[in-house]
Amino acid sequence: MNNASKTANLRDLPKLDGLLASEPFAALIATAGRHLVAEETRAALDVLRNDLREGGHVFQSELTEQALAALVEKRISSLLEPIQCRVINATGVILHTSLGRAPLPASAVKAAMRESTEYSCLELDRASGKRSDRDKLINGLLARITGAEAATVVNNNAAATMIILNTLAEGKEVPCSRAHMVEIGGSYRMPDVMRKSGCRLVEIGTTNKTKASDYENAITENTGMLLKVHTSNYAIVGFVHEAALEELVEIGRRRNVPVVYDLGAGSIIDLKQYGITREPSVPELVKTGADLVCFSGDKLFGGPQAGLIVGRKDLVERVKKNAMFRMMRCDKVTLSLLEHTLKLYLEPEKVLETVPTLRAIAREADELRRTARGLATKLKKHGIEAEVQDSTSQIGGGSTPGEELPTTVLVIRKLGGSPDAAAKRLRMGTPSVFCRIENDALVFDPRTLLPGQETELVAAISSAANAKT
Ligand SMILES: *Cc1c(COP(=O)(O)O)cnc(C)c1O
Repeated sequence: MNNASKTANLRDLPKLDGLLASEPFAALIATAGRHLVAEETRAALDVLRNDLREGGHVFQSELTEQALAALVEKRISSLLEPIQCRVINATGVILHTSLGRAPLPASAVKAAMRESTEYSCLELDRASGKRSDRDKLINGLLARITGAEAATVVNNNAAATMIILNTLAEGKEVPCSRAHMVEIGGSYRMPDVMRKSGCRLVEIGTTNKTKASDYENAITENTGMLLKVHTSNYAIVGFVHEAALEELVEIGRRRNVPVVYDLGAGSIIDLKQYGITREPSVPELVKTGADLVCFSGDKLFGGPQAGLIVGRKDLVERVKKNAMFRMMRCDKVTLSLLEHTLKLYLEPEKVLETVPTLRAIAREADELRRTARGLATKLKKHGIEAEVQDSTSQIGGGSTPGEELPTTVLVIRKLGGSPDAAAKRLRMGTPSVFCRIENDALVFDPRTLLPGQETELVAAISSAANAKT
C-alpha cells in the first residue's frame, strides 16, 4: 500500500499559506487572482476538515498540492461559468419563456452597448441643456409605428397592466369576462392583479360566452374601465362567443368609460401571410379606437423585456403621473434596445431579416426543408443517422394558442443511451442545445436556429454522440 491510497486524518490537512505559495497554485493565482484563489482554497479546506471531523473518508492522495489545486480550479471554473449560458434553441418554440423569449436584434444590442458603456442623453435635452423625459427616447417612435396618439413604456407587460388598472380604476369597478380570468404563469393571475391594483373585479358572462351586452349591463357610475385580456396561452373552442373590441369601444364611447386591451404578445406587423390568422396586429387594434393597448417588448415585438403602452394621450399622461410609474420605469439599456429595435420597424421590407423573432416566423417551408436535409447530410458524415420529417413549430411565450407553423424537423432515434440521457448531454454541452423528445426520439426544428448556428448544432450533436456513456 503506497502513501497515496492511505487514509488521511486532520493532521494531514495542509495549511492555506503553504498551499498558496506552492508551485501548482502559482499558475492558478496567475489566471484567477490571489484573492479568489485564497477564498476558494479556504472553502475547499473547510469542506475537507468537516468531512474528516465527521468521520468521512479522505485519501492522502486527495490532499497533495496538485490534487488541491485541481479541486480549487474546478470550484473557480464552476463559479465563473456563465449562468445564462449560450443556448441553441432547436425546440421550434420561437418565444420560449425559459430560454429568454426573443433573441435581440444584433444591431440594437450593438448600439445599446455603445450608448450604455458611455454617458448618454438619457434625460437631457441637448438643445436647451435642460432636463427632459427619458420617455423621449422611444415614445414618438412607438406611437408612430403603432399609429397611436401617444405611448410610454414600463418594465414589462405585467407592470403595464397593473399601472393602467391602478391609474384608471383604483377604488372602482372593472367588468371583465369570465373567459379572461387568465393565469399567465407564476403568480400572475388576473383576479389577483386586479385586487393588488386596488380595483374591484366584476365578473361578467360565462367561461365560453361573453356578449357585448354583458359589459354594457355591468357599467355603473362606479366603473373605472372596461378590460379585455388576450387569452394568451389557451384557447376556448366550440360553443363560444367573445365580444369584439369594436363593440367594447362603441359602448365605452357612449357610456364614457375607457376601454383597455391587455394584448400580451402584440405584433407590429400583420402575421396573416405567415399563417397566424387569429392575431390582429397592434396598429389594427389601435385603429379600432381602444383607449389603451398594452403588450410585451420581448414577445412578438422581438425586443427587450418591457411593457409597451399605446393609446390616448390624456390617459398615457395620467399613467405617467402615477407614483408607481417611477417604480416601473425602464433603465437606459432597455430604453436604448427598444429605441433601436423600433427603428428597425421603420424599414418594413427589412424587418423580417433584422428582428430574429420575425425572421423565425417568416422562414419559408422550402427553405426549412432544405436546411433540415442539409443538416441530415452533415450528420451522416459524422456517422449519425437522422431522418427528415414534416412537423410544426410553435410561436410560444403565451401567444397565438393553437396556431402552428409548418416546418421540417430532424429526427434522431439513437444518440447513445436513452433519449433523456442524450438530451441531457446536449443541454450540458457548450453551447447548450435544447431539442424536443417525441416518440422516444430527439427532434430538432431548424426554424429556431439563428443564422450560422447550423454548423455549431452539427458539432454539438456529434460531440454528444461521442460522449455517450
Ligand atoms: C405575457 C402576458 C402578460 C405578461 O407580460 P410580461 O411582459 O411577461 O410581463 C400579461 N398579459 C398577457 C395577456 C400576456 O400574454
